[in-house]
Amino acid sequence: MILHTIKLYENDSYIKDFSATVVSSEENNGSYFVVLDKTAFFPEGGGQDADKGEINGIEVLDVQIKDDIIYHKLEKPLEIGSAVDCSIDWETRFSRMQNHTGEHIVSGVIHRTFGYNNVGFHMNDTLVTLDVDGPLNEEQIREVELKSNQAIYGNKSIKAIYPTAEDLPDYDYRSKLDITEGVRLIEIEDTDLCACCAPHVSRTGEVGIIKILSYIPYKKGTRIEMICGALALNDYMNLHTTNKAIMNMLSAKRFEIADSVERIQTELGNARVENKKLSGELAMLKMEKHIADNKVCVFIDGASYDELRNCSNTLIEEHEYCYLFSNTDDNNYIYVVSSKENGVRELVQNLNKTFNGKGGGRDTYAQGKITAAKEEILNFITK
Ligand SMILES: [Zn+2]
Repeated sequence: MILHTIKLYENDSYIKDFSATVVSSEENNGSYFVVLDKTAFFPEGGGQDADKGEINGIEVLDVQIKDDIIYHKLEKPLEIGSAVDCSIDWETRFSRMQNHTGEHIVSGVIHRTFGYNNVGFHMNDTLVTLDVDGPLNEEQIREVELKSNQAIYGNKSIKAIYPTAEDLPDYDYRSKLDITEGVRLIEIEDTDLCACCAPHVSRTGEVGIIKILSYIPYKKGTRIEMICGALALNDYMNLHTTNKAIMNMLSAKRFEIADSVERIQTELGNARVENKKLSGELAMLKMEKHIADNKVCVFIDGASYDELRNCSNTLIEEHEYCYLFSNTDDNNYIYVVSSKENGVRELVQNLNKTFNGKGGGRDTYAQGKITAAKEEILNFITK
């Protein structure tokens, strides 16, 4: 067994294909955990997922590091002592390098501009989330985004440095570690210095673009969501496609869709008010009215509870008790019962009991549904 795996990604983060020798290949729960003498596969850690790829054509399912030994999880075993060909899923890895370096740039800019520390970092293949220990407002976030992208335009150099335990106290770096031996610092020229074990791009220009998507107050600080490089470009392309489709639907220019939607919302609101008024008037015209003493019993085909209620508000001016019904099908009716006096609750209880109904409300207003024929309802009300 070896004491540690040589980490090829530490000195050269651009290795996509490499050869190595199998040191061990142990079975556990149906999977095989393979140790190589050296590897360019980055193991899960520091907020970043494990690299994907293949060893001798077998898919690498996971990569973990324990006591400085890197384990590659495979479905099949490999022969100890054999030489193997390894390849890394480069598209995924490079996108992660763009996003991880982008995160260092943003954290560095925030640290140098506002003095806040990064207190949390997580990255998946669609989003980078980072937490800082101080509040940031819209204007400050915009400043961070601009300065971060200016660091990209400056195409600054990025390198890993390994200070000796003796020299380490002289370095003012973020993410201070308790250990003094083997500390790896990622230095982004004029921008940031931070302890980190992950592979990074070698110049800031390769990050392409940094886009902050959102920021929210989080644990007395701020949680920022961002994307970089290919992810950001893809996001922009999708946004552009969506924006174009909306522009066509609204016949609006590039940056005028919000105004256009606002205008449509106002028009829709007005139309809804008008529609309600007209359907109320229509319901009044459609109503079939039966008057008995101080009661009025009304049938309106296809009316909603809202429409029944609106009609009852008009009818209540002239009648002491109003019963309004609308059929949902042959023998099923929804009802509204109202009165200027109390007693509606009791009336509705009787109605429900007689016609196997459900519903209720206040002493002056109730609504519900029953199962009955129109004649039966009329008889019941007028008896
Ligand atoms: Zn890092």
